[in-house]
This record gives sequence, structure tokens and C-alpha cells, in this order.
Amino acid sequence: MNRFRIKGVAAALVSFALLLSACGENNAANENENGGNDAAGNNNSNTNETENNTNNQEDGLYITASFSIIADMTEQVLGDRGTVDYIVPIGEEPHEYEPVPSDFRNVSDSDVFYVNGLGLEEWLERIVDNASDTPLLTLSDGVTEIPLEGESAPDPHAWLSPKNASYYIENIVDDLSERDPAGEDIYRENADAYLEEINELDAWIEEKVEAVPEEHRTIVVSENAFKYFGEDYGFETEGIWEINSHEEGTSGQINRLIDVIQDKEIPAVFVETTVDQRYMETVAENAGVEIAGEVYTDAVGQEGSGAETYLEMIRHNAEVFTDGLSGN
Ligand SMILES: [Zn+2]
Repeated sequence: MNRFRIKGVAAALVSFALLLSACGENNAANENENGGNDAAGNNNSNTNETENNTNNQEDGLYITASFSIIADMTEQVLGDRGTVDYIVPIGEEPHEYEPVPSDFRNVSDSDVFYVNGLGLEEWLERIVDNASDTPLLTLSDGVTEIPLEGESAPDPHAWLSPKNASYYIENIVDDLSERDPAGEDIYRENADAYLEEINELDAWIEEKVEAVPEEHRTIVVSENAFKYFGEDYGFETEGIWEINSHEEGTSGQINRLIDVIQDKEIPAVFVETTVDQRYMETVAENAGVEIAGEVYTDAVGQEGSGAETYLEMIRHNAEVFTDGLSGN
């Protein structure tokens, strides 16, 4: 991903100098969006960028998020008062991402850098060290942590339960309102409307779960990432491995899970869009169960997937789990 082929260091310095002298004044000629992945899931071409339009702050706040899911949440609150980009491309997993030079520039150019925290972004230090002037905000602040199995470190996948989304959203509202006080009422309004949708989704999930026989309420995926979802909606969770950044798919891990599935008579297992699915295919084949669907964990869906937003991906996941485990 080389998103800033044209925009060199010199251009960045020029734009920084312009920014200082303009003190954030609007330049109507600038209709450029920053290169990279915008929060709508598009991978923008930046081949027409010039030195004159690299200053994204002219169109309002410019925010970089670490990955697509929190970029979508941010965009819902920010509305049209700015631009949101994200670093880890859809389809790649965010734990062990390798930042490229354009990522450092992207964050340097931003008003603020939003991250999940809870140890998700293991590459964070490299970005922060190279873009130290950009403030960083951890959106998961306030979430009740669930530790990784057998460890004291938290599981980072708090967003997978929509009951945690309000922490992310309130952190975004507070931060945007502080950076852009003129937009405070709009941010609050956007957030309230968004939270209402999330509450409706939450109620819908609780209803869906009732259709799943209690003895079938175990979610099995490759990466054991649904602990927060499981805790909130009454599912046990199992994975081949605990987290993507650890050792993945050893024969010991695969055999353990096959035993668990057979012992607990779990009727179905699931695969993730951001994980190599061959490991789970081996598990399913040997355990004699079906792969009942694909879920979104560490990224929203690609364009056209029907799960391009956080709300859509969570709804999709809940539907796939409840249908798969209730035998529909
Ligand atoms: Zn993950």
C-alpha cells in the first residue's frame, strides 16, 4: 500500500508550513481527500494530488483511525465536518500490520489519531515514534476488560459486542467537541442517533439469541475474538488460537479444538473474513461439523459485501451465529 507516491516529504513540509501560516483558514480550491482508505471502504487513488492540496485540515477535521471499524464509528459521529482515513486495509488483520511510510505521513497530517487500544495495534509504537506531534486517543477507554485466556493481557476485541460501542462513541464525541467546539451540538446529535441504532441492534440480537438452544451456545472461530460478545449475549467462545498475533494453527491447537467440539457436541463452526480459513476447514472436517458461515472480526466488509459498516457487520455476525447454532 503506497498511498502517497506523489506526496513526498518536501510536500508534507510545505503543507505544514502553509497550515501554520493559514491558521486553519479554509481554502475553497481544496477538494482533495487524503489518499488511503476512506471510511466508506474505498481505496482512494492519489495520483492527482499536488502540493497545493495536501492540507486536509482545510476541509475540517482530518482524522486517521488505526483500522476500518473505528473509522466507520468515527465517520458516523463526525458527519460532514471532516474526513476520516484508516491505516490497516480491509481484509488485513490489524494486530501485526506493518506500517508503510505513507502511514506515518498520514498520521502526521492528522488532527488526531484514533486507536482501539487494549493491545490491538502492536505496531502502534512505531507510528507514534514517527508522528509524535499528533495526539492519540484510545477509543476503548472505559470498557470492562476481559483477559486473554490464561493471560493477564486484555483481549482487544471489545468492539465485537455492540454493548461496548457506547464507550467508543462517547470518547469520539468528547474528543471531536473539544477539537471543534462549533460542531459540538452536531456531534452530540449524530452520536445520539447512532446510539439509538446500536440499541435497536442490541435488542434485536437478544431476541435472536433466544432461538438458540442453550446447549448450542458456543461460538467457535479461528481467533477466539468473541469473548465480549459471548459475555454480553450468553455464549461460550472457543478458538483454534487465542489471538492472531500468537502462534496460529499448530496441530496441538487444531486437535484440542476438535476434541472440544466433539465433547460439547457443538453443531457448527465459523470462519472470519480476515483469517486464513484453511485451519478451520481442517477442524470442521475432522470434527464432523459444518462451517456455518463467515463473520467479520477485525475489519468491516469489502464494498458490496453488505457489511461495509460497523452496524451491518455486527448484525451479520449475530445472524450467522444464531442461524448456524439453532440449526436453521
Ligand atoms: Zn483479531
